[in-house]
Amino acid sequence: MLQDLISTFTRMKRYKFTGETIHCDLCGSVERDIVGRRDRYGNPLQTCLCRGCGLVFTSPMPTDLEVDNFYRRFYRKSYHNAYKPTAKALLRAERGAASRCEAVRPALKPGARVLDVGSASGNFVRFMADQGYDSMGIEPNRAFAEYSRTENGINVQATIWQEAEIEDGSIDVITANHVVEHFRSPVAALKTFHRWLKPGGAVYISVPNVYNPDRTPYGRFHFAHVYNFTRETLIMLALKSGFEMSEDYPGDSTNILFFRRDVPVENWQIYPDVYTKLKTYFATYTNRRYFFSAKPYARWVQRMGKLGGDMIKVKGAS
Ligand SMILES: [Zn+2]
Repeated sequence: MLQDLISTFTRMKRYKFTGETIHCDLCGSVERDIVGRRDRYGNPLQTCLCRGCGLVFTSPMPTDLEVDNFYRRFYRKSYHNAYKPTAKALLRAERGAASRCEAVRPALKPGARVLDVGSASGNFVRFMADQGYDSMGIEPNRAFAEYSRTENGINVQATIWQEAEIEDGSIDVITANHVVEHFRSPVAALKTFHRWLKPGGAVYISVPNVYNPDRTPYGRFHFAHVYNFTRETLIMLALKSGFEMSEDYPGDSTNILFFRRDVPVENWQIYPDVYTKLKTYFATYTNRRYFFSAKPYARWVQRMGKLGGDMIKVKGAS
C-alpha cells in the first residue's frame, strides 16, 4: 500500500526538462501546431502535430540525457530495485505472450530466431523458447533484465537498442511491444531493425493509438511517450524504414506485422490527410467537451455497478 502511494506520487511529480527543437523524425518538417500543453497528471508537457505528415510528438523533444535521467529517477519504481511481479501480472504476461506469438505466426519458420526489443520481465522470450524458437531480448531496465535471467532463464542484453550487440542479417522476427513510442528517433530504430533482420524477416509493432474518440482527452499524453502514433503514421514510419504491412490486428492499440522489403518503397507518404484528420480530432475532442458529455458519468455509474457486484460476491463468499 505504502509502495503504491510512493509510486503514484513519483509518477505525478513533475519532471523538469529543457529539451531541443528537432525536425520531424518522419518527414523532416519543422512546421507544427501545438495540440497539447499538459500530461495526464496535469504537468506541463508540450505536444505538437506535424503539418508535413501528421506525426504527433513531444516538442521541444527531451535530449538523450534528459530521457535517460527520467528513466533512472522516475520511471518504474523497480528501475534499480528487485522486480517481483504479482500473480495477476504473471497471468496477464502469459496471456499476452501467447497472443503475440499468434500475431507473428505468419512470419515464423521452425526454429526461427526471435528478438524482443524492450523485453521487460522476459515472458514473451521465455514463451517463444518453450515453443522451440531461438529467442532473446533487449531490456534497458536492469531489474527487469535480471529477473528475466534468474526467473525466466532467458538470453537478454541489459541495454538500450542503440548499444545492443546484434549481428546484421541474423534475426527472423523482431517484436516491439509498446516500446517504439518511447524512442527519440523511431526511424533510426526501425532502420536498425531492418539491418538486423534476414531477407524476408518481419517486425511486429504494437503502439498506443492517439486517435481514440472514446478515450479521456486529459489522459492522452505521458512524458515517457515522446511519440503518439495513429495507425496511419505507424504504417508510414514502417514504409519509410523499409517495411511493408502484412497483418493489421484489431484492438485499442495499433498492432501490425510488417515484412522487410529489400528495397524500401519510394512513396511512403500514402496517407496525406492525417494532419487534417488529427487537427479536427484534437479540436473536437477536448476536455471541456468530454466533461459536458454523458461519457464520464456513464463510466462512473459502470464502475460503481462493478464495485457493487464485487461486494455482493465477497459477501456471498464469506
Ligand atoms: Zn512530419
